[in-house]
Amino acid sequence: MYQKQLVLCAILFASAMACNKGPDVGAKIAAQKSHSDSGHVNTQRIIEADSEPENWLAHGRDYAEQRFSPLTQINQSNVHRLGLAWETPAKSARGLEATPIVVDGVMYTTSTWSKVIALDAKNGAVLWQYDPGVERAWAKKLCCDIVNRGVAVWQGKVYVGTLDGYLIALDAQSGSVLWRVDTLIDRQQAYSITGAPRIIKGKVIIGNGGAEYAVRGYINAYDADNGELVWRFFTVPGSATGPFEHPELAIAAQTWDKNSAFPGLGGTAWDSIAYDPALDLLYVGTGNGGPWPQHIRSPKGGDNLYLASILALRPDTGELIWHYQTTPGDSWDYTATQHMILADIKIAGNVRKVLMQAPKNGFFYVIDRSTGELISAEKYVFANWAESVDKTTGRPILTEFGDYRHQEKYVFPSAAGGHNWHPMSYSQNTGLVYVPAREAGWVHNDAGDRWFEWGTNNIESLIGDQVIPKTAGYLKAWDPVEQKLAWQIELPNTWNSGVLSTAGGVVIHGSADGHFYAVNDHTGGVLLDIFVGTGMIAPPITYAVDGEQFIAIMAGWGGPAFNTLKGNEALLDYSNAGRIMSFKLDGQTVALPTPVPARGQFFKPPTVVASAEVVEQGRKDYVMHCGSCHGMYGSVPMLPDLRRLSHAKHAIFKNIVLEGILEENGMPNFSSDISSANVDGIQAYLVTLSQKAFMAQQK
Ligand code: CA
Repeated sequence: MYQKQLVLCAILFASAMACNKGPDVGAKIAAQKSHSDSGHVNTQRIIEADSEPENWLAHGRDYAEQRFSPLTQINQSNVHRLGLAWETPAKSARGLEATPIVVDGVMYTTSTWSKVIALDAKNGAVLWQYDPGVERAWAKKLCCDIVNRGVAVWQGKVYVGTLDGYLIALDAQSGSVLWRVDTLIDRQQAYSITGAPRIIKGKVIIGNGGAEYAVRGYINAYDADNGELVWRFFTVPGSATGPFEHPELAIAAQTWDKNSAFPGLGGTAWDSIAYDPALDLLYVGTGNGGPWPQHIRSPKGGDNLYLASILALRPDTGELIWHYQTTPGDSWDYTATQHMILADIKIAGNVRKVLMQAPKNGFFYVIDRSTGELISAEKYVFANWAESVDKTTGRPILTEFGDYRHQEKYVFPSAAGGHNWHPMSYSQNTGLVYVPAREAGWVHNDAGDRWFEWGTNNIESLIGDQVIPKTAGYLKAWDPVEQKLAWQIELPNTWNSGVLSTAGGVVIHGSADGHFYAVNDHTGGVLLDIFVGTGMIAPPITYAVDGEQFIAIMAGWGGPAFNTLKGNEALLDYSNAGRIMSFKLDGQTVALPTPVPARGQFFKPPTVVASAEVVEQGRKDYVMHCGSCHGMYGSVPMLPDLRRLSHAKHAIFKNIVLEGILEENGMPNFSSDISSANVDGIQAYLVTLSQKAFMAQQK
């Protein structure tokens, strides 16, 4: 009855009042389900997700990953009345990226260090928490913060992939561990799991990350009941000549120079997964090459399958049915791991079963998901590495601007992409895809030892007479049929939240500078803007309990440290207070987190006598070992500003770096990675940064 009532509200666009009524029925059902019956999701329920819009049963709400909710209680006419229903601290000051799952009034989500939290979705009360106890030193193996993008829930179990590569099944009722498997083929290498598992036909599908560190990518399918491995699909060959673990690798091997840097090569599947039950195809996006420059990785070129590709696999066996490579021979970190959306849309008079993706490379792809045939691809942001995508071959037509083999180049989009992992949303109301996009470039140079480094002093000279966009973030409403922009909203920082759209005609988004807002899905007109004091990168979701619709989002800014502070200085004022927030109509005013004392003036750093060579080596070591968390220039919002290290901290610098005395704060022990002499160099480099900041302040 309860489900039917909400569907009716959705269908009739009934008034908020009407949909608000009837809590008695809802309460009864919620009470029945909240006890011995937690988390009983199955294939049929996810396939028929529209019939129970009060729930958010799977990562993208349904297998098509549209992130479009049929709920309409909150709509264009009343969304301005949204206020806080509840908020629960996530006990984290770093990046929160999870999509909460909501099943029958219970919310399951994750925080940093792969911790799982179950909450009462109506009031935010914590029901249980689970900490997998990830070894803090694992943070050294990550490019992009100690994040996790959420759990899967299935037949009374909650599944999480941990930073250190375990797949764990928890009892949905109690949070106790039911089974735990090691998904890694080599624990010495820099593998990590940050993505959310998906459950397809009773199998847990999970990949991993680490292509930045030249690991070999693969996708696993485990039996959801007991954790037994059912199949494993390697995305790149382990050698030029075999033996090959599965036949697809023999084909892939022909696209690699036989002198390639086997057996690493990248291609990790660290995020996007979708499923079409009618076609019985599982879609997985794969990552960049490792190392980035193809001239180092596979010197004689080649497409380097299956890097930067969309793979269509049989979920029962892992057999590859088709693949579409968005960036053949990738040299730019142009992953195709970005969110994929399945929809049936009318193109040139015919309803096509499409898969849509806006991967990092800057082109918005519409692909026939039955066959992998390209329907169309156009630039959704400024991109100079390729002119266009050839409609016949489906291949990009390259330009000189992306070729950095002999000379450094300022390449657009940046290695962080025209769009990264932050999920898009496809509205069945408007037919538009809402993309959290970013305009930015990246300097690539030919020297393999510096491939991880970002930034240069002579960007001007690299631009030449190109007209480049200003660096900014955007919420772009993209028409996938016409392949053109419908409208966009500019944001000061490039790293903003994922997106939700609803049948109520609203698009929900959160920004790096702490604004939670709702816009009109047709026009982009802002209907609501609440400053919450914490930057957001995670995607919002919506659900209902007892007849009341909620919109929830995890607030907590983070991710890779190449991002600048621009636009999200609010984080410095409010300490990036991580929390799970849920809004409803006529909820409370958001109380801002307690302000923290300003970071204040730079003080005169200690004198460190070091030669220019030592400082330069220190800079290189810093970039290699420290920069991915602390930022390339010593300062990020989420972590202590290393340019402001006190004299006392400088005195124990080596104890911090080489003895792990701050390991509990998340600072790993680097004794097995950096020599004592090189730590001196890093410290000397940081002191030069402090001196620069101090001098600049004196002016
Ligand atoms: Ca990458």
